[in-house]
Amino acid sequence: MSEGCVRVAVRIRPLLPKEVLHDHRVCVRVVPGTGQVMVGEDRLFTFDNAFGPSVSQDEVYESCVQSLVERLVDGENATVFCYGQTGSGKTYTLGRRSRDEEGGIIDHAAQDLFLYLAEKRKESDVVDVTVKVSYIEVYREELRDLLQLQTTHKELRIREDERGNTVVVGANEVVITSAEELLNNVEMGNIFRHTGTTGMNERSSRSHTILTLQVMLSCHNSKNSSFKSVRSSKLCLVDLAGLERAGKTGNTGTQLKESAHINTGLFALGNVIRALSELSRNRHTNNSCSAHVPYRDAKITRLLRDSLGGSAHTLMVACVSPSDHFVADTLSVLQFASTAR
Ligand code: ADP
Ligand code: MG
Repeated sequence: MSEGCVRVAVRIRPLLPKEVLHDHRVCVRVVPGTGQVMVGEDRLFTFDNAFGPSVSQDEVYESCVQSLVERLVDGENATVFCYGQTGSGKTYTLGRRSRDEEGGIIDHAAQDLFLYLAEKRKESDVVDVTVKVSYIEVYREELRDLLQLQTTHKELRIREDERGNTVVVGANEVVITSAEELLNNVEMGNIFRHTGTTGMNERSSRSHTILTLQVMLSCHNSKNSSFKSVRSSKLCLVDLAGLERAGKTGNTGTQLKESAHINTGLFALGNVIRALSELSRNRHTNNSCSAHVPYRDAKITRLLRDSLGGSAHTLMVACVSPSDHFVADTLSVLQFASTAR
């Protein structure tokens, strides 16, 4: 993966049992060996990776996320986000939902992170390693700390520190020492995510969540071993709200307002990613004209500012259903995803 690039993968989930029962037909397919996806008979989209319904969680992780965890340990920033319609497999792809399901990206990343760090500790100049986790939800453009039940959104503020790092003032950062501890924290946050103050079951599909793993390595200075230098890097794993189509029936009042917030966030993110892709294309063609990257347009893009662009690596996993009943949503997700490259 080249420096600071945006990579896009698509994952098509299998038809669900109830869809099979209701005679849904498969109309989205991977063109084998190409990274291309075909919708119907003639709509072709090209990505860096295309995963069909039989591809396992392991394969998805190994082919596009594992290298980012290695880079995290080596001091680089990265972001993975899952994008798609509600019910398309975003949460499934990111993390485990129940004990009997295969672990997703979060589970694998947690295991590998502590394996790689154990190796890192053996390097002679490494004095100390600290891992911290934070877990933030963005709901209606308001922030909530999923690791700290008492905090209300009003106490969380996004700020940039003197080194240009994004910090969420007031957010809980939990120091963790094992994969198990990390996953326990995530699980607690998930329970909280699903039982928010509004008590809505639907809430989880209408909010974005950002799980941030921060690694801090303190090393002996190569010139003077009595000085230590601290290197910090982070990996953000983002579960985006489901894409909402404006004309969808039944969206009134509060729901309509939520749709507007969700779409603001997704639209802003799309603009940021497009600007970044343009920047990286210009770099390759030695065209020095710089695109404006509109980070400030939404909370989600402000939060991810230091993890998108610059030297950070970005992976977008666009999740889609194979069903002919969701073709319109699938097409808009694939269009969004293919313009991000
Ligand atoms: P989203 O988070 O996008 O709303 P979910 O991750 O909740 O969607 O997935 C919707 C349903 O589809 C869940 O029941 C989930 O277990 C199932 N599912 C999603 N992706 C897959 C997959 N690749 N293989 C098997 N089941 C899947
Ligand atoms: Mg979900």
